[in-house]
Amino acid sequence: MVSDYLILGAGVTGLSAGVELEESAIVLEKDSSPGGLVRSFCFDGGYWYDYVLHLLHFKDPEIQARIASYIGDDMKPCPPEAWIQTLEGTAMYPFQLNLGGLNEGARNRCITDYAKAYYHKNGHETEKNYKEYLRATFGEAMCDLFYFPYNEKLYKYPLEKITVDDLTWNLHQPSFEEILKGGFEPNVPRATYNTNAFYPAPSAKDAPVRGMEILSRALAKNVRNLELNTRVISVDPESKTITALKEGGEATYQYESGCLSTMPLPLLMRLCNNAPQELLKQVDELEFTKVISIAISIKGERPKNTGHWKYYTDPAIPFTRLIFMNEFDAQAAPEDGWALLAEVTWPGKQTLPDENTLTAQVLDAVRSVGLLNDESTVIGTHFWVLDPAYVVFTPKTQGIINNCFEYLAKYGITSSGRYGKWEYSSMYQNIKAGFDWAKKVTKKSFA
Ligand SMILES: Cc1cc2nc3c(=O)[nH]c(=O)nc-3n(C[C@H](O)[C@H](O)[C@H](O)COP(=O)(O)OP(=O)(O)OC[C@H]3O[C@@H](n4cnc5c(N)ncnc54)[C@H](O)[C@@H]3O)c2cc1C
Repeated sequence: MVSDYLILGAGVTGLSAGVELEESAIVLEKDSSPGGLVRSFCFDGGYWYDYVLHLLHFKDPEIQARIASYIGDDMKPCPPEAWIQTLEGTAMYPFQLNLGGLNEGARNRCITDYAKAYYHKNGHETEKNYKEYLRATFGEAMCDLFYFPYNEKLYKYPLEKITVDDLTWNLHQPSFEEILKGGFEPNVPRATYNTNAFYPAPSAKDAPVRGMEILSRALAKNVRNLELNTRVISVDPESKTITALKEGGEATYQYESGCLSTMPLPLLMRLCNNAPQELLKQVDELEFTKVISIAISIKGERPKNTGHWKYYTDPAIPFTRLIFMNEFDAQAAPEDGWALLAEVTWPGKQTLPDENTLTAQVLDAVRSVGLLNDESTVIGTHFWVLDPAYVVFTPKTQGIINNCFEYLAKYGITSSGRYGKWEYSSMYQNIKAGFDWAKKVTKKSFA
């Protein structure tokens, strides 16, 4: 089959590009449903989980209006309320703006050390790695209590070997006045990068789908040519031919004007049949983490004042975060139950843990933080893995990405999206990237 444009992958990036290109593109997706990471599942008779928890937030009112018009009335404002449990108290997110939630000694140390960092800072040019960046930005005490243990748990990689690059766009860097205010007037929701957030919450009790998959379905409805159950197995850049595996066997597709791949960059490179060996060796050096999600369906009274999610810094607790799905959408679980999602990160290149053992450890830890008691019954657990989930930036990462992009550009292939660009980005950024790429190739804009 020949098409002007081919789009590989139907996550939000590929879908957005597909919406914009209308009939001139075919979107190929390996899974049986579109959305990639932005999908939702229903288990145990009415317990809904996002594949990975997603809040939709925008920087561009035009894109916000466009997405709202696709989703309709189901899209509800959802400014997040989140909490951080440290070894010295629990503070509302953003941590640095709510230090008064900690015990008095910890709060005072955090404020004093922030003052030292804040007034001694000469810009960030001299910080060579993420650990130094965090220390210089937030001071020693906040790092000891939250930023270091949390990020070590999240990345499972030495922070001094991670470069700063893309990692700071969602870190609120307050004035000293804001820090003081949060130190003495804590646990008040304060504006940060994701305050203007939305979550789909259909009013109908029997809605056929709940959760952020509503966004993917809304985009997919506007894609003219979407081929599901179509796994790309090789790319011949010279002849602009993509081979895919479908239920009936192999199929080939040719693009005339351009190809947008949203598959993870390392996978795309390995599928290109003329990629230089030297480049493939470099690709093997890209670092990442996986996220193991464990969904826990619980019958019993819903816990109160949990917020939407809670971070746990204690290294003895296996999860980085617990997410309370019914706080986003009260109907994400039956009235006599609640849907809990635990996230555990895992080094990208390490063998995964045994599913039953990790699930048992997570349940024990959920009990230890006081969320399960004799009145509540776990009626189901479900385990899945996001691979990759977080890109780990090392000093080599950007050079390798540039080399890959240079090779791909020779053949009219653009690699985009969170894993195609091998970056740390949000749905909004990727929706925009999909729209922008399509506009650029069809010369609708010079973005
Ligand atoms: C833990 C976590 C939390 C997050 N929280 C938020 C949040 O709160 N808000 C927010 O805005 N963003 C959040 N994000 C980011 C958001 O998930 C991504 O920005 C977005 O989903 C990326 O979309 P994508 O289309 O680029 O990639 P993907 O969703 O990965 O899509 C790629 C698609 O390619 C397909 N594919 C792969 N291989 C093949 C193949 N061989 N053949 C055919 N198809 C293939 C995949 O099946 C997939 O559908 C979070 C991400 C993570 C990991």
